[in-house]
Amino acid sequence: MSETKYQPETLAVRAGAVRSQFGENSEALFLTSSFVFESAAQAAARFIGEQPGNIYSRFTNPTVTMFEERLAALEGAEQCVATASGMSAILACVMGLLKSGDHIVASQSIFGATVNLFNNIIKKFGVETTYVSATDVSAWQAAVRPNTRLFFLETPSNPLTEISDIAAIAAVAKGCGALLAVDNCFCTPILQRPLELGADIVIQSATKYIDGQGRVLGGAVLGSRKNMEGVYGFLRTAGPTLSAFNAWVLLKGLETLKLRMDAHSANALELARWLEAQPNVARVFYPGLPSHPQHQLAMKQQKTGGGIVSFEVASSPGSGKEAAWRVIDNTRMISITANLGDTKSTITHPASTTHGRISPEARAAAGITDGLIRIAVGLEAVVDIQNDLARGLGN
Ligand SMILES: *Cc1c(COP(=O)(O)O)cnc(C)c1O
Repeated sequence: MSETKYQPETLAVRAGAVRSQFGENSEALFLTSSFVFESAAQAAARFIGEQPGNIYSRFTNPTVTMFEERLAALEGAEQCVATASGMSAILACVMGLLKSGDHIVASQSIFGATVNLFNNIIKKFGVETTYVSATDVSAWQAAVRPNTRLFFLETPSNPLTEISDIAAIAAVAKGCGALLAVDNCFCTPILQRPLELGADIVIQSATKYIDGQGRVLGGAVLGSRKNMEGVYGFLRTAGPTLSAFNAWVLLKGLETLKLRMDAHSANALELARWLEAQPNVARVFYPGLPSHPQHQLAMKQQKTGGGIVSFEVASSPGSGKEAAWRVIDNTRMISITANLGDTKSTITHPASTTHGRISPEARAAAGITDGLIRIAVGLEAVVDIQNDLARGLGN
């Protein structure tokens, strides 16, 4: 498929597919831990890298390779390295690209486990992280030290859907010789392609929209061959690689990604507009709404507002937490779970779950109030999602 430039829909369905000798139309699942050689000489040639080919599934596996090629085509990356989860993608990125004494500048609005990884694990190996505002480009410049090697951000952020200006922050990174890594989990390459905007590395938690049906964990790191060399080297040696079975599920997930992202986005926009009109909703956070403070940047950088909508429930009577819990506990259909990117709509109270371990002061500073609810809008009929929320909103 490499000579012609194909549209994303086509790449999602066909890129990376390699047929075996049996001529299957649907990509094969190679559930094998190792591969057999024709001779001792061939084994030796494979091991020293003289002859390309599979050796062992911690190194490469044909099903995993198909997934990597397909995702690389969609993100416009030279190379994709698949990992066991989104977190192992972030770990592999840091372990592959940084060394002791290096410094990270990261958005303060990143996934909680990423903050944990940077503060409690990576830090033990002599890499420090400074956190800055997701939206204030000058703060990124101000945080740079002579040893800054990596910028790390996530846009839109969770749960407040703040938008970081990828092109502007990429320019700051370039100016100081650092690499910019973007966690593109919320948008997927269907809605946003950070490499085209100047980022060096893309991180994916394939667990979310790429699977899209809440079945398996997976992740990926994408970028230039040069940057992926160390990332792949870390994975091959340390082992948090993607399993062949999960790669196969995710490969099939990619085939419907465009359709699903369009449908999630359309549902989310309709729900966000409806929420904005509800008397007991104090505020709605959705990049696709003109009321979003960075609506214009979002619409320049992303194709749609995406599938995540957050809102604040008006807090009387009772506290913000009571009001938010009342909405959650009155649902009958929407799943109460912190996962996202599923066909099934999910509902979360960030202040007591995903962001429950940070101090109330830090939470307040981050804008995550007790009345805040996050919905990962699924593919059900919007009217059914609305009715499920209306009960607890008291209208
Ligand atoms: C879920 C998530 C991750 C981590 O992915 P796992 O597959 O759960 O390890 C990283 N970043 C973002 C934005 C996520 O939502």
